[in-house]
Order: sequence, then structure tokens, then C-alpha cells
Amino acid sequence: MNLTDTGRGHLDRAVELAADAVAAGDEPFGSVLVSADGERLFEDHNHVSGGDQTQHPELAIARWAVEHLAPAERAAATVYTSGEHCAMCSAAHAWVGLGRIVFATSTSQLSAWRAAMGAPASPIAPLGIAEVAPSVPTDGPFEEYAERVRALHEARAARG
Ligand SMILES: [Zn+2]
Repeated sequence: MNLTDTGRGHLDRAVELAADAVAAGDEPFGSVLVSADGERLFEDHNHVSGGDQTQHPELAIARWAVEHLAPAERAAATVYTSGEHCAMCSAAHAWVGLGRIVFATSTSQLSAWRAAMGAPASPIAPLGIAEVAPSVPTDGPFEEYAERVRALHEARAARG
């Protein structure tokens, strides 16, 4: 799909949050939850630096959505995210009945970048959303974000 200006605004924000995460010592991932009428409801970035490796923004969004949105509102909402959901977050997204996911960069791009940087492999299989939650509609990746997000991962890796 072509990214609309609105969609680009939300993805830009997700990538901005990923940059904030790196600045805070976390991994470069950011995500935004947007309602059916385009309102940004909740946003977060990765918070794994405290030692809890499950502190992903997409999981935080799933939990927030269960607390604050009715099932129909969840289904009509869209999650914009700097990097495609991991298997854990894809599963959480599907379990709570959230709608579309728009991702700036893909899991396969991330795997290739991490391999090129000599970063340790992820402890979970690098499955795309479509493999874990095939009923969730998705759009992405968008090439215009690849270099910016790759650079965030490089900055994070360089810090050690
Ligand atoms: Zn995740």
C-alpha cells in the first residue's frame, strides 16, 4: 500500500519513540495505538534496560487496550510501530483482538541487520506477524524508514 500522510505521521512518531528508547538505554522500538477516528490513544517505547526483556511497546499497547477499549474499539484501532511485532507481541495483539498493524521495518530486515552487526541472535524464532497471527491485517515494511531504523539499531549495538 501507499502510505498516506496520516499514516506517515503516526509511523514517524513510532520511529521517534524508538530513538527516545535508544537515548534511554533501551532497544530501538516504538509503537503508537491509533483509534478508528485517527486519535493517538497510547504510545510507548521499549523498556528492557531494567532487565525485563518482555517490556516491548507492542505488548504494553495490547495490555492498555484491554484495560481501556471495548472489543469493537480494539478491532477498529491500528498499531503503528517502528519494527514489526515479535512473536510474543503478535500473539498478544491477536489475543486482545486489536486491528491492523502498520510497521516501518520488518522482522527479516532486523534479523539481517543484527547478523551484519554481529549482534547475538534473538532467543525466539524471527517469525513475521503473518506467521503468528495470520488474521491480523498488516502493511509494511516501507523502504523510506529502513536506513533510519537500521541506524538506530547500529547506535544501540555500538553502545554494547
Ligand atoms: Zn515484542
